[in-house]
Amino acid sequence: MDCLFCKIVAGEIPSTKIYEDEYVYAFADIDPQAPFHAIVIPKEHICCADKIDETNSFLIAKVFEAIAKISKQENLEKGYRVVNNCGEQGGQTVGHIHFHLLARRNLAWPPG
Ligand code: 5GP
Ligand code: ZN
Repeated sequence: MDCLFCKIVAGEIPSTKIYEDEYVYAFADIDPQAPFHAIVIPKEHICCADKIDETNSFLIAKVFEAIAKISKQENLEKGYRVVNNCGEQGGQTVGHIHFHLLARRNLAWPPG
């Protein structure tokens, strides 16, 4: 499958690893939107939030377990934001579900 983030998980495209376990991989975003900006993904390919179902939703739970671990690992105790863009109007540009983990600056709300 021609998927950028599957290639990153496979090590075919280099990335700066932040966290890894059996189910989840997290790496530095190439175009950071905050002083800390990780992309957190399930290793298994799911295209987008719209395709989460009872067979794969445990992987999304694993992503959020990983985010709590990354928060401790990276000392994000002041807070952070988790963002998922889904589909064209949601601003998704890579078709492998991913969660932006943004931190170390004040993040406006609503986001616009
Ligand atoms: P989306 O717009 O789909 O929600 O987010 C895709 C994210 O992936 C963007 O923040 C973009 O900077 C990041 N990205 C795209 N290509 C690469 C890459 O080759 N390496 C890394 N580390 N990040 C990438
Ligand atoms: Zn993929």
